[in-house]
Amino acid sequence: MILGCHLSSTGGSAAMVRTAVSIGANTFAFFTRNPRGSKAKKENPEDARQAVEMLREGHFGKLVAHGAYTMNLCTADPEARSFAAQVLEDDLRRMEMLPGNFYNFHPGSHVGQGTEAGIEWISQALRRALRHGYPVTVLLETMAGKGSEIGGRFEELKAIVDAVGSGEVGVCLDTCHVYDGGYDIAGDLDGVLAEFDSVIGLDRLRAIHVNDSKNPLGSRKDRHACIGEGTLGLETFRAIVNHPALRDKPMILETPNELPGYAREIALLRAMEE
Ligand code: FE
Ligand code: FE
Ligand code: ZN
Repeated sequence: MILGCHLSSTGGSAAMVRTAVSIGANTFAFFTRNPRGSKAKKENPEDARQAVEMLREGHFGKLVAHGAYTMNLCTADPEARSFAAQVLEDDLRRMEMLPGNFYNFHPGSHVGQGTEAGIEWISQALRRALRHGYPVTVLLETMAGKGSEIGGRFEELKAIVDAVGSGEVGVCLDTCHVYDGGYDIAGDLDGVLAEFDSVIGLDRLRAIHVNDSKNPLGSRKDRHACIGEGTLGLETFRAIVNHPALRDKPMILETPNELPGYAREIALLRAMEE
């Protein structure tokens, strides 16, 4: 199982790999910049080179970098929108330091412009950012659909994938988000995955965010709970980590934990692997 959690990037990339190893992880996620702002850290090629070496030696799976929450590619203000598009391009360029990994982000919120307009802005920004061919695969995250969030329906993600066209765009399925968005992965995981397959195609599914939810099915809330302590429950995660369509994908915990809690959840999920 390729399993890890969100780590702080404050100490650099090599430090994240060391931390991951210490908690039993063989992948991890990190914010490419301040998650609630836009400031990016100074790049450190020597640190990145060391990290790449350690990832190879430790037989890590693909990492799943996460774009800032504040990066809204379909915001209404043209200036803010073009700034967000620049942030996306810069993030993808920065992934050159850790080549061959994933970059996941929240598609955006259309803030009243409508889903169609939002999808168009997001696709436009992606087409521009992807033309450089940086060595990274971009993933759209499935969202809970709160407010004017785009990505709460599989159809919306499919529309972006299609509008971007030739570029390699995948999807990261967040278990809390899809459940809050009304997809019953607790009651009918196979049914939800069949729907994903018919709408988007399971070949586009590249990574999983493994989170329990504090809220009921279809609540559109997006509040993560620790594994087994939410409305999804332990058995749902047993099914997820063993599902043939999911079990080989990088799985990232974004549960409300510090490192010891993450280490426990990683051990818990690994023990459920059949
Ligand atoms: Fe996310
Ligand atoms: Fe997530
Ligand atoms: Zn979330």
